[in-house]
Amino acid sequence: MGKMKNPNTCRWIMFAIIIIGFVISGISALLWGVEPIPPMFIAGAIMAFGGIAFGIITVRCPACKSRLNLRGLPTAYCPHCGAKIE
Ligand SMILES: [Zn+2]
Repeated sequence: MGKMKNPNTCRWIMFAIIIIGFVISGISALLWGVEPIPPMFIAGAIMAFGGIAFGIITVRCPACKSRLNLRGLPTAYCPHCGAKIE
């Protein structure tokens, strides 16, 4: 394991991946419709799910490794062990 990333930063990266995935899906649906489902739509959906998976894996307390809330505001203190999150 390398240097532990800040979970608040990871949460923003997760949101960015999900939003980009939705934008890709949305644009492809507008361009080509959803019948049949365009490959780019599927790629965008996979990207959005990948973002969620990224969040579940990375948005964790660096001290106790508990999963932190994926939604909402940046976490200042871990609700599980009370460690300060920079
Ligand atoms: Zn903790």
